[in-house]
Amino acid sequence: MKSSTRQIARQRIQVLFRQAKKVHATNPQLSSRYVETARKIAMSARMRLPVEYRRQICKNCNSLLVQGENCRVRVRQRREPHVVVTCINCGFQTRIPLRKKKGKKEIEQDNHSDEAPR
Ligand SMILES: [Zn+2]
Repeated sequence: MKSSTRQIARQRIQVLFRQAKKVHATNPQLSSRYVETARKIAMSARMRLPVEYRRQICKNCNSLLVQGENCRVRVRQRREPHVVVTCINCGFQTRIPLRKKKGKKEIEQDNHSDEAPR
């Protein structure tokens, strides 16, 4: 069953992120390796990393981003409100739009394409 593969992947990702957080202060390199592994698991299960995790990592160097430690978070209001997260480790910037949620759009339903034009 496809869904159970994903469930297992999700659980493993969860564990890896927990570990990544735990070792981050003492061993950032190991922490990045956990993040990298979690991303690979997501990829092989052909699922996207859950949003809550995607926002905590640097896509460029796989660092776990901890506010006040190795990343800078700025809120910008130009055009549309968004948050810019800068990884201090490598300088990579992640842009997170702050769109207001309209109704309930579950991310879980990924069988069905969400890329519909607005
Ligand atoms: Zn980085």
